[in-house]
Amino acid sequence: MTQPSAPADRTATAPAPTAPAPSAPAPTGAAVRLDGVTKVYGRGTGAVHALRGVDAVVPRGSFTAVMGPSGSGKSTFLHCAAGLDLPTGGRVSLGEQDLSGLNEDALTRVRRERIGFVFQAFNLMPSLTVEQNITLPLRLAGRKADARWLAEIVERVGLTGRTGRRPSELSGGQQQRVALARALVTRPEVVFGDEPTGALDTVTAKEVLGLLRRTVDLLGQTVVMVTHDPVAASYADAVLFLADGQIVDRMAAPTVERVSDRMTRLGAWA
Ligand code: ADP
Repeated sequence: MTQPSAPADRTATAPAPTAPAPSAPAPTGAAVRLDGVTKVYGRGTGAVHALRGVDAVVPRGSFTAVMGPSGSGKSTFLHCAAGLDLPTGGRVSLGEQDLSGLNEDALTRVRRERIGFVFQAFNLMPSLTVEQNITLPLRLAGRKADARWLAEIVERVGLTGRTGRRPSELSGGQQQRVALARALVTRPEVVFGDEPTGALDTVTAKEVLGLLRRTVDLLGQTVVMVTHDPVAASYADAVLFLADGQIVDRMAAPTVERVSDRMTRLGAWA
């Protein structure tokens, strides 16, 4: 028996008025928001301007892909949006909270408790079972697993009956399902994916993308995914295109053809 409890519980930890007051300073349904974000690596003549004033809004319960040529700033965007790195200037907000005012301890708590991550390399602990891997973020946060929620996400990612196995006993696709379940277990406000299907074959990649899509549609999860793959991007509700550290386009209802065409015009395949 499943219940769509995630959105309600999520709003309990991060109050999100369904009808924002018109007078509120930032009346958005944004899960993540970047305002004038800049990121400079190094200084002086060697300085690299990785982000040059990025404004972006990720609506709650949406699936957003971030694309752009190599070196356009995708990883930097993801790291700044997820609180893994601090911008040089501008503001990143998670829900109503401005992350720029937080110290490292507070940022660590935000990453641990309010954000989920899925990486290309799965990053599972080889000595732990599937279930122990999935519940690791809860243990790190000193929280107990809600047995019903755990069972639901294990079922949703198709790992029922495999929770006692070790990662080495699983295929790449199954390992990425474990990583996705681990990202969902804390009921995060946003799941960030960094090329989450980059290490998977085409068929398995589509299964994982379908799962991500369903977490958005059925659980109300917000997902932001960096990808270079137009097929992966076509599963999203919208695509943000980066070039030279700036957002140069936003595409709603992306298709493989339209995304490929836009990337070609950005010189991404050159
Ligand atoms: P993408 O993910 O689109 O390939 P990145 O965000 O990784 O782009 O990089 C954007 C720019 O910032 C590139 O010019 C890259 O070389 C530079 N860059 C990224 N990280 C660092 C770093 N830690 N130190 C210096 N330059 C960096």
